[in-house]
Amino acid sequence: MEDCVFCKIIKGEIPSELVYEDDKVIAFNDINPAAPIHILVIPKKHIETLLDVSEEDSNLIAHIYQTINKIAKDRGFASQGFRVIANCGKDSGQEVMHIHFHVLAGKTLGDKIVG
Ligand code: AMP
Ligand code: ZN
Repeated sequence: MEDCVFCKIIKGEIPSELVYEDDKVIAFNDINPAAPIHILVIPKKHIETLLDVSEEDSNLIAHIYQTINKIAKDRGFASQGFRVIANCGKDSGQEVMHIHFHVLAGKTLGDKIVG
């Protein structure tokens, strides 16, 4: 999508600190980190919100979680643990309308909302 900041990152029109890329997904450091490690994992396909995910995206969503798994192991924080957050819509505070999975790690994540 033309006005989408994450699509621009995918196209290289906006710089990012790349963590991982393949044909389906890209991962980069969040510009405003909430933890020592704060990575955003996003599909290259522009999907506005989690409500727009459909059955045909099943493999893509699984691939995102496999990518998170790989990054956690490669970056060495898998054993210490991490948190994945995906915001959807107004009440969640979703700012960028291209689905993204926040991966937070590198400290005790004390601000736990559920669980
Ligand atoms: P959300 O509130 O879930 O929509 O999160 C959007 C996230 O994108 C925020 O954590 C922002 O800091 C991050 N963000 C926005 N623009 C950029 C950018 N150009 N590069 C990296 N992260 C960004
Ligand atoms: Zn987009």
